[in-house]
Amino acid sequence: MLRVASVGSGSKGNATLVASEETTLLIDCGFPTREMLSRLDQINVDIADIDAILVTHEHSDHIGGVAAVSKAAGAPIYATHGTLTSGKLVGARTIVEIESDSEFAIGDIEVTAITVPHDAKEPVQYVFKHAAQRVGVLTDLGMVSAHVQRAYEGCDLLLLEFNHDLAMLRRGPYPAALKRRVSGDFGHLNNDQALGMLEAMGESVPGTVIAAHISEQNNSVNAVSALLGPLIQRTEMNVIYATQSQGFDWISSDASGAVSKVA
Ligand SMILES: [Zn+2]
Ligand SMILES: [Zn+2]
Repeated sequence: MLRVASVGSGSKGNATLVASEETTLLIDCGFPTREMLSRLDQINVDIADIDAILVTHEHSDHIGGVAAVSKAAGAPIYATHGTLTSGKLVGARTIVEIESDSEFAIGDIEVTAITVPHDAKEPVQYVFKHAAQRVGVLTDLGMVSAHVQRAYEGCDLLLLEFNHDLAMLRRGPYPAALKRRVSGDFGHLNNDQALGMLEAMGESVPGTVIAAHISEQNNSVNAVSALLGPLIQRTEMNVIYATQSQGFDWISSDASGAVSKVA
């Protein structure tokens, strides 16, 4: 069984945990160590339990706390060459350079690093496999490329970016250049794009979807849940909303998509 928890999700900081019985992986850390410790405490995780930190890309909401937290955890950092050249991990103790679109194992979890279209040097997102379970983490991408769509097929649980409602972004407070960046092909997924990815999966839609990286200015949980309503009714998919302030507590997903709170 794989479990997933979010320590926080959004443009002010991201950190996601994926764990088997034996192995605990942290994906990104946009929080300073002290804040991370108190947030981990809320979901009953000891920082020393973290076996490795996987970085998706060098934007500060994902990498800001990685070097310090890896020291505190005594855990190695996995990142692509491009992410490493950003200079944001200078001073980090143990770094493992990974290749985009490669597969590797950490403990008893198999990891695939998937290339995504985003405005960073060499961004990847991840799919995790353990026993019969497949869990995907997918945020910070401007569009769903054919490569991404294929790589995330068959996930039992998918943490997926629902960054913005396009109409709210257009009439919202961001300057024009930022609006173009966010909505561009190397920016962030809007609600319709995320829904389109799920609908393209047809029968193999994940049993559980975690809506994540939801913009506080240009989106709302209500907008996402209204959009997902028909798909939820049709597929009985479970949807959980990851928030900036709290993330969400441990969730496990078996093959049938049942959700149970573990911690
Ligand atoms: Zn981000
Ligand atoms: Zn980013």
